[in-house]
Amino acid sequence: MGYTEQDIIGTHFAIIFTAEDRKSKQAQKEINAALSEGKAVDERYHIRKDGSTFWAQGMLFPLHDEQDKLLGFTKILRDYTHKKEKEDLLKSNLTYADSIINTVREPVLVLDAKLIVRKANRAFYRTFQVSREETLERYIYELGNRQWDIPALRQLLETIIPENTHFEDYEITHHFEKIGKKSMLLNARKLYRVESDTQMLLMAFEDITKEKELETLKDNFISVASHELKTPITAAWGYIQLFERQIEHLSLAPAPTTSMEKTKQQLLKLNDMVHQLLDLSKVTSGTHPLDFTEFSMDTLVREVIENHTLINPDAEIHIHGSVGRNISADRLRIEQVLNNLIGNAIKYCFGSARVHIELSVTDNSSSVQVCISDNGIGIPVGEKERLFGLFSRASNAIRRKIPGVGLGLNISSEIIKKHGGNIWVESDGTNGSTFCFTIPIDASME
Ligand code: ADP
Repeated sequence: MGYTEQDIIGTHFAIIFTAEDRKSKQAQKEINAALSEGKAVDERYHIRKDGSTFWAQGMLFPLHDEQDKLLGFTKILRDYTHKKEKEDLLKSNLTYADSIINTVREPVLVLDAKLIVRKANRAFYRTFQVSREETLERYIYELGNRQWDIPALRQLLETIIPENTHFEDYEITHHFEKIGKKSMLLNARKLYRVESDTQMLLMAFEDITKEKELETLKDNFISVASHELKTPITAAWGYIQLFERQIEHLSLAPAPTTSMEKTKQQLLKLNDMVHQLLDLSKVTSGTHPLDFTEFSMDTLVREVIENHTLINPDAEIHIHGSVGRNISADRLRIEQVLNNLIGNAIKYCFGSARVHIELSVTDNSSSVQVCISDNGIGIPVGEKERLFGLFSRASNAIRRKIPGVGLGLNISSEIIKKHGGNIWVESDGTNGSTFCFTIPIDASME
């Protein structure tokens, strides 16, 4: 404490207490406690001779002589600075983690290994309109009148999560008691707590109900609009043909053939667009489920290439690798994807196209991968992701006036998604591009 014997002998022990503790008569309170209970133990700041403070555990014992007469007290101080620092750090980390979890706008739950809720954030209580009392320390499936007892969630928690350390974007659609029908994306991550050797599970929910509704609205609109457009286009085509015959008959000079041809071209383009939109709505609506058959991807790719080389004899198309086994998928739809990707590889190139197709088996033999590389105009940096959207075209294709409507990749991506696969493009913006897709070997299981 920094005192010499001379400094301290004869001084009241209250000197080691902070000004605040002296004001509240802490020394006297400890004496009283020691007298009534035989000892007084606590932790607090004490003060050294130089005025500096330190965290200490203090023990005060009364001292009696053989006749049980009170002689005085013994005070033992233990420097607990390190313990206090550790506790403070732990507390501040906990507050920090708590404030992060509570600031997150998405609902978050922390479950222990027995699926008991250990923590929920404010967004969880707000979104699902439940209280802390009906949430904390309860089994997940018992929450809110068993509103979380959903087969899809059981599958995630009991089958998928135990085998994986994390899971992203698992979709659940469910009718919740207080908030009605909702679609949620679930992200989950396992946390391991070293100090207690236990597993915890962090789950975050993203409400995508509005996005799903908009998606359905868009799909319905496309389906209705494309159906309604079919009839007037057919009628207009008929009238143009009639008009052509009438002009021939009238033998007008000069005959308006150029404008007639342009009108027909535009009408054909419109017709093509409407057919692609109709096809897209078939894929997305679920009214035309995939027709699974077993077939050889290697043979299908060769057949598609043959057709393209017939129409584009200048194009050089090579295959590398092979799948070497049958897959189960919708053959016609996969053929459509291959036609779109190989057709694009030939269309978006300078002069004669050189196309490489790489076939392989990936993901521990559970998926096939097809990559189609070309020597074409490439995809400008920053435009890759949006190309799989509706009516999306890259700026370089528009600038070069290469004909197209921007629907093929959208349909291809919907087809691949339906098969439980992935589709993406790689391009550095100049030296051609590589479009790849994967689908499970047995997509009917997805
Ligand atoms: P479309 O070819 O009718 O425009 P797609 O949906 O098939 O429609 O393609 C969308 C856009 O992606 C194209 O307009 C083009 O800008 C770009 N694209 C597709 N394939 C390639 C490719 N192999 N090389 C460069 N750009 C491509």
